[in-house]
Amino acid sequence: MSSSHVLVLNCGSSSLKFAIIDINSGAEALSGLAERLAEQAPLIKYKYNGAKHNIDLSAGDAHQVAIEKLVELVKQLKLDTHLIAVGHRVVHGGEHFTKSVLINDNVIDAIKQTSALAPLHNPANLLGIEAAKKAFSHLLQVAVFDTAFHQTMDKQAFLYAIPHALYTEHGVRRYGFHGTSHYYVSTQAHKILALPENNSRIISAHLGNGCSVTAIKNGQSVDTSMGLTPLEGLVMGTRSGDVDPGLFSFLVNQLNYSAQNVDELLNKQSGLLGISELSNDCRTIEEAAAEGHAQATLALDIFCYRLAKQIAAFIVPLGGLDALIFTGGIGENSDVIRAKVVSMLEFMGLSIDNDKNLAARFGNQGIITSQNTPCAIVIPTNEEWVIASDAATIAQEQ
Ligand code: AMP
Repeated sequence: MSSSHVLVLNCGSSSLKFAIIDINSGAEALSGLAERLAEQAPLIKYKYNGAKHNIDLSAGDAHQVAIEKLVELVKQLKLDTHLIAVGHRVVHGGEHFTKSVLINDNVIDAIKQTSALAPLHNPANLLGIEAAKKAFSHLLQVAVFDTAFHQTMDKQAFLYAIPHALYTEHGVRRYGFHGTSHYYVSTQAHKILALPENNSRIISAHLGNGCSVTAIKNGQSVDTSMGLTPLEGLVMGTRSGDVDPGLFSFLVNQLNYSAQNVDELLNKQSGLLGISELSNDCRTIEEAAAEGHAQATLALDIFCYRLAKQIAAFIVPLGGLDALIFTGGIGENSDVIRAKVVSMLEFMGLSIDNDKNLAARFGNQGIITSQNTPCAIVIPTNEEWVIASDAATIAQEQ
């Protein structure tokens, strides 16, 4: 094995996703997840050579211990000698970062400064960076930002119609997220569909637990549905997406909610879960709807209607459509949601092909409409690959 591997770390508040990727082949030499960190029964689950294994951690063990155990594992599997860099997913890069960067003290300071905009995510990402710096002190560390791809948006797309000083003094604006995924699938679409980079109109729908749609013109993000935080835009698993901002004062003044209660309601108790009162998991909702569960059916109807409406709106910045991409856990697997959404977009020249729609599931990519132009296409995302490849490129430039 050659020295061509990158360790990819995606550190959440109580979890740590990791993968070691061979940048020559794209293959994952190791992948896994440390979960329930700093809680009662933390655990590392990993996959190596096709087999699944667990490592139990002690109650209260957090990111540093998880990374130390990961280092032991990597050494034990003799994967450490192949590593050339560590790539970190960082959720919010604010306006500082328009592309992936080599991590140094200035970069760490800038990520800290941006934490006010992503108080749940960035501090967790920083924990991962600090722990990895200690554990892999000989390796270059690279940060890859979820917001960076959207830094090409114009002011008319990214500013809210609120007093301008909130933007100039506090950075309040739309940033957009899932950038790594939108970038990856749109790059793939250009290749698969032979679309010219300087003349293409793509809408990409990343539909997972979080959901966002991006309008991509000539390879650049021109608008996206998420905003200052990942709460704006589409209906998601537990997030409401767009609501009337007047809801905030109604909940506070009429129902005595605190700001934290409102935040919790909109982020954790809404979306598919809030409407269905059953689950945030799309599979469960689809199964229940198929058995006649009225609120599950309603949750799917609202999810699809809002998604179709957002996709149609993005025809404005694009001036037309070459390809609509579906990706993420729901986008890659739910033929039901794709068929429903595409049926609402027939006026845009899209019509579903049922056989192709059923074939493009469970990791299979493919066009799912009867025509190829414009088309709807399923492309499995691969954010880890983008992080690994950016980290390798930056490390090799040093
Ligand atoms: P992600 O955040 O990308 O892992 O996506 C998670 C979402 O994908 C959850 O809502 C899952 O229910 C959904 N999902 C995964 N597989 C399927 C499937 N076969 N049908 C419908 N939804 C699915």
